[in-house]
Amino acid sequence: MFCWIFLLILPVLNLFAGESACRKPTILRVVTQQAESIEHYEDERLYLKTEKIHPGIRGWVLCHGSSVIALGNLFADEKGCYLRCRSPDDYLFTCPKPKCGTRWWFSDTWSQFCPKCGAAGD
Ligand SMILES: [Zn+2]
Repeated sequence: MFCWIFLLILPVLNLFAGESACRKPTILRVVTQQAESIEHYEDERLYLKTEKIHPGIRGWVLCHGSSVIALGNLFADEKGCYLRCRSPDDYLFTCPKPKCGTRWWFSDTWSQFCPKCGAAGD
């Protein structure tokens, strides 16, 4: 009996083990891997399509096709479920050119390229 339960759970555990190995910020992953799961953006909130959000072992996950993204910090209001921009889920880029040194949040420009000089941010 116990073995049956283990066999049923094992593939799910493997799925989420692979998920936690990736350290890209959540918002960067959603935009690059699951743009179709985004409902809209408003007031530094990235709203997600609720039909793409599912319960996982360690919390909510965003699923589309073979892509699964853990949603560690998922918030909700009357408009739906959202991720907070300019937060640890977002990514603060730094321009690699010493004379420029611009810092920008990914959600400010939705790009990895420096808004001042165009260099790829770190
Ligand atoms: Zn720059």
